[in-house]
Amino acid sequence: MPHVVTEPCRDCKYTDCVTECPVECFYQDGDMLVIDPNDCIDCGACIPACPVEAIYSESSVPSQWQGYININLERAGVLKGQGKQLSKKQPPMKGPNCKGS
Ligand code: SF4
Ligand code: SF4
Repeated sequence: MPHVVTEPCRDCKYTDCVTECPVECFYQDGDMLVIDPNDCIDCGACIPACPVEAIYSESSVPSQWQGYININLERAGVLKGQGKQLSKKQPPMKGPNCKGS
């Protein structure tokens, strides 16, 4: 079961999660991060690192965010091709729609 980044990451991008990942499988676009499900080893280390609880095991994704399972798969494939891997923490985006503090 790969892990999945969901809606709360959108417009937040705190990026604390990426420093925990042993296989560097996070990718970013202008709005949020995604996990490449083909590379994730399901260690779960990223889950407690996220301040807005955006990351879930695929089997535990809340019903309203099920669409993010495919979003992570598709976006990670595209972003990988664009070299948008992220493995170092960067300043949080914290845009106007970020619900985090
Ligand atoms: S820590 Fe959470 S909000 Fe921040 S980039 Fe990772 S998934 Fe997104
Ligand atoms: S579960 Fe582990 S391998 Fe998968 S994205 Fe999170 S930290 Fe990386």
